Amino acid sequence: MPTSGSVLQVRADQAVDLFSSETDALARARAVLAQADGEAGLYRQSLSELTGHFERLIRETRRLITRSDRAERDMNALNLQLQTLAEQLEFRATHDALTGVLNRGAVIERAKRLLESSGAVLIVLDIDLFKQINDDFGHPAGDAVICGIVECLTPIVAKAGVIGRVGGEEFTVVLPGDSLQQGLELAECMRQAIAAHGFAAPVNRQITASFGVSACPAGSRFDAAYSSADSALYRAKRGGRNRVEPAAD
Ligand code: GH3
Ligand code: MG
Ligand code: MG
Repeated sequence: MPTSGSVLQVRADQAVDLFSSETDALARARAVLAQADGEAGLYRQSLSELTGHFERLIRETRRLITRSDRAERDMNALNLQLQTLAEQLEFRATHDALTGVLNRGAVIERAKRLLESSGAVLIVLDIDLFKQINDDFGHPAGDAVICGIVECLTPIVAKAGVIGRVGGEEFTVVLPGDSLQQGLELAECMRQAIAAHGFAAPVNRQITASFGVSACPAGSRFDAAYSSADSALYRAKRGGRNRVEPAAD
């Protein structure tokens, strides 16, 4: 039988009446009440016993309410933490750690989904002679250039589609629809922005990128769409770099 203050310590698998002492006191009080001509002393004793139990019940109830409030607050805080962690995990799984844009898997996923519905324009771009930047200024400076390129491109791409980093210094932009003209115009806009961008010291030189663009209607396969854009990029490199080439028909 639980004593005062032990209500919460009763094991869940024990079939114990938490209120047995109160139930007994209540039975005794009822018995006293049933006596039509009971003595005043008897009534007083019964009332005193009931008062004691009642006060204990109030104390226990207050304590339980306090504990339950605290447990609810703790649970809410843990839930919030869990939600934040889940969001961080989701972000890390789909975004590139260096630049914060979509990672390879996420941008390919996006392109595949568009190819199933509206069709997709793929713009693949690769920084020109990037190895030289690493060689001349070091790998951290190369990383800073990659971030600078993303800063430059993000506002241009923002409303039209998404950008993802698919390799070291290679990016893919995905737009909905199948307008090659729209893709070429956006790519040209990006090309000019990169060429005009002033990169921070120590990289005080002009940096350019080459672009290949493909536009495929709904139902096209991703591999074919990407391969067309990639071949166009290769042509842009061979053609002298810092240029935009459309995919061949
Ligand atoms: P091209 O104009 O033909 O593209 O020449 P490139 O020098 O840019 O091409 P290449 O593929 O020869 O070199 C790419 C270099 O990018 C090689 C690699 O060391 C570097 N690289 C790849 N990933 C990273 C990265 O995350 N950070 C830095 N700093 N460099 C990287
Ligand atoms: Mg490359
Ligand atoms: Mg390159």
